[in-house]
Amino acid sequence: MASVFSKIVAGEIPCYKIAENDEFLAFLDINPLSEGHTLVIPKREVDYYFDLEDDELARMNVFAKKIAQRLKSVTSCKKVAVVVMGLEVPHAHIHLIPMNSERDVDFSKEKLKFTPEHFSRIVEKVGL
Ligand code: AMP
Repeated sequence: MASVFSKIVAGEIPCYKIAENDEFLAFLDINPLSEGHTLVIPKREVDYYFDLEDDELARMNVFAKKIAQRLKSVTSCKKVAVVVMGLEVPHAHIHLIPMNSERDVDFSKEKLKFTPEHFSRIVEKVGL
């Protein structure tokens, strides 16, 4: 069965898209830890991040870098954290989390709740 992220890639499930190219897609996490929390995925469905091909992994990180730079400039955070977990969704993804303190990357804390309008405003601000 296709992962929820493959369904996003196929357009069967909507997302708040930040950027895409032929191989990768970036969209807002619907349960954000901070304003601008973004997921970067390969369009090709691979569960485990380190099962990606070497050159694919490199290109994915270069793609993520552009988004991280954009997030940093528009959210005025101290840094953009890079987290790979993949325990919930079995489709490789990088979390990009604008952070001002370690607490901003604490996955055990309660997630932020944004309205669709709020998510859309973030896309307008960050979207590439
Ligand atoms: P993990 O697999 O542990 O890295 O967590 C998966 C992440 O994907 C969580 O932060 C979820 O909030 C996020 N997520 C799950 N479904 C969606 C979706 N349809 N759109 C955006 N983010 C999602």
